[in-house]
Amino acid sequence: MAEEAPSGKKLTIGIPRETAAHERRVALTPDGVKKYVAAGVTVLVQKDAGKDAYFSDAAFENAGAKIVEEPRGIYKYSDLILKVQKPTTEEIDEMRPGSAIIAFLSPMNDLDLVRHLQERKITSISMDAIPRTTRAQYMDALSSQATVGGYKAVLIAAYELPKFFPLLTTAAGNIPPAKVLVIGAGVAGLMAIGTARRLGAVVEAYDARSVVKEQIESLGGKYVEIDTGADLAGAGGYAKEASDDILRRQQEGLAERAAKSDVIITTAAVPGRPAPRLIPATTVERMAPGSVIVDLAAETGGNCELTEKGKIVQRHGVTLVGTLNLPSTMAVHSSQMYSKNLQNLLALMIDKDGQLHIDMDDDIIANSVITMDGNVIHEGTKQRLNPVSTPA
Ligand code: NAD
Repeated sequence: MAEEAPSGKKLTIGIPRETAAHERRVALTPDGVKKYVAAGVTVLVQKDAGKDAYFSDAAFENAGAKIVEEPRGIYKYSDLILKVQKPTTEEIDEMRPGSAIIAFLSPMNDLDLVRHLQERKITSISMDAIPRTTRAQYMDALSSQATVGGYKAVLIAAYELPKFFPLLTTAAGNIPPAKVLVIGAGVAGLMAIGTARRLGAVVEAYDARSVVKEQIESLGGKYVEIDTGADLAGAGGYAKEASDDILRRQQEGLAERAAKSDVIITTAAVPGRPAPRLIPATTVERMAPGSVIVDLAAETGGNCELTEKGKIVQRHGVTLVGTLNLPSTMAVHSSQMYSKNLQNLLALMIDKDGQLHIDMDDDIIANSVITMDGNVIHEGTKQRLNPVSTPA
């Protein structure tokens, strides 16, 4: 199955300004634009699309893009829209049937969006569906953005903590290093461990997949062992969802550590599922006043029971950070990394003549296409749309 840009003409790529609240990133940077323009592709950039990430309209124009005042024009005249966040219903309605969009669509959590893309016959590709394989790592935007999130989480914790991170020996007395506990040692967690270590903290980390022990230790962290009776390592390197019994044992094991920690950074996640509740209110109560929890899982319900999505609150003297979308707060580098990921993906889809080909024989593309030709292609999303009912 392959789909081409209409009438053999060269592709028109559209870069809209992001409309989601607090989203500062832009999907393609001027460097990326330059490359496509050189290949004869037309690149339309909405006015101010890069402004919040400090990429000016002038920089886009110098790279060869055409600046478009009206967002409608971008959606209407582009064969391929590149975005960070999922499009709104209105934005999809402006797109031509047969045109394509690439963004973080999280299709399994937004079936209405998928149905709409399907009805409008839009080819949609989700950056969060790119497989986590060695070949796909150059286009793995989940990883690049999680790297930013893990780094920024530690900086926020250091800012909120009324203590130093490093060990200090001064004339005004000796200061012990901060104790940081990282929960979940995927991409964000590992970046958090490295960043906290570089700031001089003593770091320990826990993950439900014991295979990460070596990675934690290689970054200078101490691996926390909790006997839950099961390793949750699942397919594709992801963790399986914890049963109630395992979760209870994890909570108990972590409560001991939490009480001795100045900072907890939580990143535990299971794709398509609510975040595991690893820090109940009773654990927060046991922490010393002034301690800080940064909950990177706030978007999907939080790893801590008391996290408030999108807010920074104090509970039992502990500062709980539930700030969302940390990559957006570092929009220069997060845009740059996202743009690179997109270009690496597009290298599989745009040929030297500037034509778009969706090659379903390529495993990376086949896994990432959500809708095409009025059909839902992505397996996980299909299952969510049509769950197989099991007999009672
Ligand atoms: P993620 O954001 O989905 O989850 C973060 C971490 O939370 C994971 O390490 C997971 O094991 C952990 N977790 C889930 N439930 C937990 C629980 N109940 N208690 C404690 N921890 C829990 O993870 P991610 O950063 O997206 O990485 C997922 C996997 O993909 C990892 O195995 C990673 O090594 C792999 N990966 C591979 C590549 C590649 O090969 N190119 C790139 C990036 C990530």
